[in-house]
Amino acid sequence: MDSCIGVEREIDKVLGKFDGIKGHADKTFEELIESVRSVKEELEHAIPESELNAVHNLILTPSLKRIKEVTSRLSNEHKEIHSSVSKVGRAIDKNFVSDLIDLNSEPTFETPERMRLLNEVVCEHFLRQGMLDIAEKLTQEARLDMPAEVKEPFIEINQILEALKHKELQPALRWAVVHREQLQAQHSSLEFRLHRLRFIELITGGVDRQQEALLYAKNFAPFAQEHAKELQVLMGSLLFIRQGLAHTPYSHLLDPINWLEICDIFTQDACALLGLSVESPLTVSISAGCTALPALLNIRQVMQQRQCSVVWTAKDELPIEVDLGMNRRYHSIFACPILRQQTSDSNPPMRLACGHAISKDSLNKLITGNKVKCPYCPVESTPAEAKQIRL
Ligand SMILES: [Zn+2]
Repeated sequence: MDSCIGVEREIDKVLGKFDGIKGHADKTFEELIESVRSVKEELEHAIPESELNAVHNLILTPSLKRIKEVTSRLSNEHKEIHSSVSKVGRAIDKNFVSDLIDLNSEPTFETPERMRLLNEVVCEHFLRQGMLDIAEKLTQEARLDMPAEVKEPFIEINQILEALKHKELQPALRWAVVHREQLQAQHSSLEFRLHRLRFIELITGGVDRQQEALLYAKNFAPFAQEHAKELQVLMGSLLFIRQGLAHTPYSHLLDPINWLEICDIFTQDACALLGLSVESPLTVSISAGCTALPALLNIRQVMQQRQCSVVWTAKDELPIEVDLGMNRRYHSIFACPILRQQTSDSNPPMRLACGHAISKDSLNKLITGNKVKCPYCPVESTPAEAKQIRL
């Protein structure tokens, strides 16, 4: 979006200049043509084959001077507009890089299998976002095989979320009750929080709903131990049922943020329960790509300029470290202290008998006879004693 705005700004500058020039250029040309015409008329009165007289000189000299002045001014203005137009070109080059595909030597999405995977990821993204009709259309057009059991959890979660946004607790409560055991196993406070919101709703209903609120409090029984403090607060708020909670020490219970929080908690717990990531994998990939690509493009340019592009040949390795920020760190990585390379599936980290860890490639290089000497402690052990570490 920023790129579009950047280019648009340059285009606006050109159009502004162009309008300015066009406005006075037309007028100037007309005046010039008129003056040339009058000079022509004047000259036509002269006797044929005669020499220019003083009067003619008097008319011609300022006229020529003026023509020269105007044409040079217009040509300067034209040059200026040309530089603005080329600025637009540069802004487009800067903001829209179209040769990203060069960053990947493999044809990433060319095989039908990969294309299908990509379409499935896109389809899952739409299902997550609740754009069911678009997901359905994509499934048809890309001839995807998305079984109902894949779609149903997304549809259900979206319906419940939609209801929560409209402050309807029942669908979420029903879901939480059905999945109570699994939710408890992952220490979720979802069900308690849903009951809490319902209880607050009843309290804000005033004295008329006092009885109902008291009866509803029974729902808190299973949570009495874990949420004792919060329950005390809720019971305390009953004291103000007559006057309303707005100007009492319990006013925080009415904070609208509670409703935003419950949507987040529900999404997190439901995704964890279904074994899904909270964020859409497609969103994560794209945002990671947006962060990483500029740095990768820069390094590729530098490599090409210095003609050392052959350095970057490892397909599962990046030529530079790209920091995607704390939010995008999902698992530990291990860089071999000997070869200074990040470990991979084919070159995993190995733990020697002494406890020190190095990569498998280093281990193979350090073997002499049937022994390997730890480069750190340096205890000797056999290569067979080394165990692969899984991160
Ligand atoms: Zn050691």
